[in-house]
Amino acid sequence: MPTRQVMQERESSLNKRELADAHCHLDIFEDLTQVKESIENGVLTIITDGVDTKSNLKTLQISDNVNIFAAIGIDPEHVPLLQDNELEFNIGLIKQNNQKIVAIGEIGLDYLLAKTNKERVVQKKVFADMLELAKELDLPISVHAREAMGDVLVMIKESGVTKVHLHFFSGTEKQADEAAKLGYMISIPPLPSSSRRKVIKHVPIQQLMAETDCPIVGKVPYDAEKSARLIAEAKGLSFEETCKQLSENTKRFFNTNGKANKSRSQLIRY
Ligand SMILES: [Zn+2]
Repeated sequence: MPTRQVMQERESSLNKRELADAHCHLDIFEDLTQVKESIENGVLTIITDGVDTKSNLKTLQISDNVNIFAAIGIDPEHVPLLQDNELEFNIGLIKQNNQKIVAIGEIGLDYLLAKTNKERVVQKKVFADMLELAKELDLPISVHAREAMGDVLVMIKESGVTKVHLHFFSGTEKQADEAAKLGYMISIPPLPSSSRRKVIKHVPIQQLMAETDCPIVGKVPYDAEKSARLIAEAKGLSFEETCKQLSENTKRFFNTNGKANKSRSQLIRY
């Protein structure tokens, strides 16, 4: 039996390492065993994003857990696959779950996928609908922008949405400056690169979050630890201090305390 002091030490070392994953896709996991392990290792806040109808429905189900919070939306990759009335169905789903979800996401523009003007116009139309909905419901947005940061920033500014999270930020240093000035949040994946280090330096620590985009980029939510290390190193801050700040940022931005109501069951206990 561990003594009280040993237990307190364990708790405080765990507290120092509290982590948050601001963007991942838990609906893709075959089972949630590895996610449970990440939670047990201190990833106490996980934001999981849906991308289409099936994934949104599963994401809502998975977020019946004290540590897991849902964002739902239609991501640009799935825009061309939308069937008749599917967009309307998802708009209804977002409205119905307004009190449960922490953001509308993943939404955005992907010009690597949409090469023609025609395809881009369709992506923009769905993104504009999602922005309008976010404004109406006063919900934050989690945004995907690949080779499309310029248009994404213009459309967000025009929409009047102000609670903005740019996930897997891949814009320029100038765009990072602009996003930071507008008060947007930027999340960093667990992939070190010199351009990423430069971007981190341009954004105040209060506006940064760690993400994994797992299982696509990171393997599990615990890989947010690697993102946190990257941020700590680029900022010249201690790892503990950085983890604490990044967790606080994630909880504050997504208002997870406000969403942690009693209707949330504890399928996976921490
Ligand atoms: Zn994603």
